[in-house]
Amino acid sequence: MTSEPTSRAATQLLAMLAQAMASGAVETVDLTHTLDPDFPVLVLPPEFGQCARFRIEQVSAYDERGPGWKWNNFSCSEHTGTHFDAPIHWISGRDLPQNSVDEIPVHNFVGPVCVIDCSAQAGRDEDFELTPDTILEWEAIHGRVPADSWVLMRTDWSKRTGAAYLNMREDGPHSPGPTAAAIRFLVDERDIRGFGTETVGTDAGQGSHYTPPYPAHYYLHGAGRYGLQCLNNLDRLPATGAILIAAPLKIRNGTGSPLRVLALAPRASDAGRA
Ligand code: MN
Repeated sequence: MTSEPTSRAATQLLAMLAQAMASGAVETVDLTHTLDPDFPVLVLPPEFGQCARFRIEQVSAYDERGPGWKWNNFSCSEHTGTHFDAPIHWISGRDLPQNSVDEIPVHNFVGPVCVIDCSAQAGRDEDFELTPDTILEWEAIHGRVPADSWVLMRTDWSKRTGAAYLNMREDGPHSPGPTAAAIRFLVDERDIRGFGTETVGTDAGQGSHYTPPYPAHYYLHGAGRYGLQCLNNLDRLPATGAILIAAPLKIRNGTGSPLRVLALAPRASDAGRA
């Protein structure tokens, strides 16, 4: 049973939060790209099944199909646009309990977030790799990554448009991402809740050539952790101190879902950003 003082403290905390949001001291940051048929999706080697782009068709628009109303049908992959990856997405997480989007306990959809700024390195090297050393350098400045937090890799890749986003070449896509060792460090040594990127996947563009292939997917989901990709506006978040809200659609046995990702963060002018 919850004790009365604890309950009162929580009530006061929520009231303070509501006040801070109303005054603008805490702002709501949209970390989501607009769902649009032109937004790129992951492209796998041609022998594999492919992820569908976003499609939309009008049902009626205040016309003979529906004189007083407008609505659309849409379809897409679970992994289209800014989206969430559940453990069941990968073979390593196939048999875990509560591994699909409908079964994940909802408290996992709201929580603290760390942002590791790799934008300068990714600007110089499109195959930039996040390593354990990069994380330790970040921790030397910002403190230890707290257990059960989200870790987001900022690269400013979200500012790219068109073909530059997938950055496809003859040998496949080129975009920054974590090494296998970095993901193992975050999962095994820091016990993170999940890992997110601005690129089309949680793995580097060349991740199919890593050992194991797609190590972020393999290790995150094998440990029951979550992924976010195609994130936007990470340059508007502080390194620590924001709260991430990322609740996927409740698709039965769903492996992932497009979603609106938001963060509650101190107003930019108050956050002391570097
Ligand atoms: Mn995905």
